[in-house]
Amino acid sequence: MRHSSWLYGIIAVAALLLCGGCATTDYVTGAETYNFYTLEDDVRIGKEVYSQTLEQMRTKGIPVNEDRERVRELQTIVDRIVAVSDIPQFPYEVALIHTNVANAMAAPGGKIMVFEGLWDREKGLVSDRDELAAVLAHEIAHVNARHSTEAMTRDMGPSILFAIGAAYAQSQEKEEFARILAGTFMVYQGVVVTHYSRRAEYEADRVGMMYMARAGYDPEAAVRIWRRVVEEQGRNHSPLSFISTHPSAPQRVQQLEALLPRARELYLSGTPEP
Ligand SMILES: [Zn+2]
Repeated sequence: MRHSSWLYGIIAVAALLLCGGCATTDYVTGAETYNFYTLEDDVRIGKEVYSQTLEQMRTKGIPVNEDRERVRELQTIVDRIVAVSDIPQFPYEVALIHTNVANAMAAPGGKIMVFEGLWDREKGLVSDRDELAAVLAHEIAHVNARHSTEAMTRDMGPSILFAIGAAYAQSQEKEEFARILAGTFMVYQGVVVTHYSRRAEYEADRVGMMYMARAGYDPEAAVRIWRRVVEEQGRNHSPLSFISTHPSAPQRVQQLEALLPRARELYLSGTPEP
C-alpha cells in the first residue's frame, strides 16, 4: 500500500515538472496558455474519438454520410471557415450522422460530427445555410482554441493530487478522509470545470461569429439561432442538445448581439483577413 502512494507521488512530481514546459501560445488569442498536448496530439486524439464514435454509430445501425449532397454542403462550409481560421493545417473532416438529434460536436484536431436532427422542422436549429455555418463555425472555434486538450491539461493536476490523497487514505485505512476527498473532487468538477467550460462556450461563440463573417456567411444567423433557443426554452423546459451547455441562451444572445456590428463589418468588407 505504501508503495502505491510513493508511486503516485513520483508521477505527480514528474507531471508537474513536465507541465512547466507546457506553457504555450493560444493560436486564437495569442495569449499564453497551458496545454500539455502538442498539435499532433490533438490530431491523434481527435482521430481516435472520431473513428470510435462513427464505428459505434454504425454498430448501432445508425447510418453515416448517406446524404451525399448534404455532406458536400457541410464540407464546403467547413473548408471556407477553416481557410480563415487560426489553425488551418489541422486535417479537418466532417461526418453527417443520420439520427434525429439536434447536435453538432467537434473532437480535437478538426474532426466534426453533425447530427441530422439539426435540420428537424420542430426540434432543429438550422433553417438555412448561414445558420448551418454558425453552428459549424462555433465547433471550428472550439478546435482552434484547443478547448478539449486545454481542459485535459487542467484536469491533470487535480486528478493526480486526488489519486495521491486516495492512495494515502487507503494505506492509512482512513475511510472518512477518502470520503471527504471524493467530495472535494466532485466540487472541483462541478465548480471549476463548469466555470471553464462556460468560458469556452462564450469564446467559441465569439470566435465562431468572426470566423463565419470572414468566411462570407451572415453573422446575424448566429444571433437568430440563439434567439430561437430562448423562445424554445420559454415554451418547453427541455433545452436542445447543441445547446445543453452551461451559459444560458439569453446571455449568449446578449454577447452575440454586442459583437454583431464588428462581425457585420467583416462580413460586408468581403475580403477574408489573412
Ligand atoms: Zn460549444
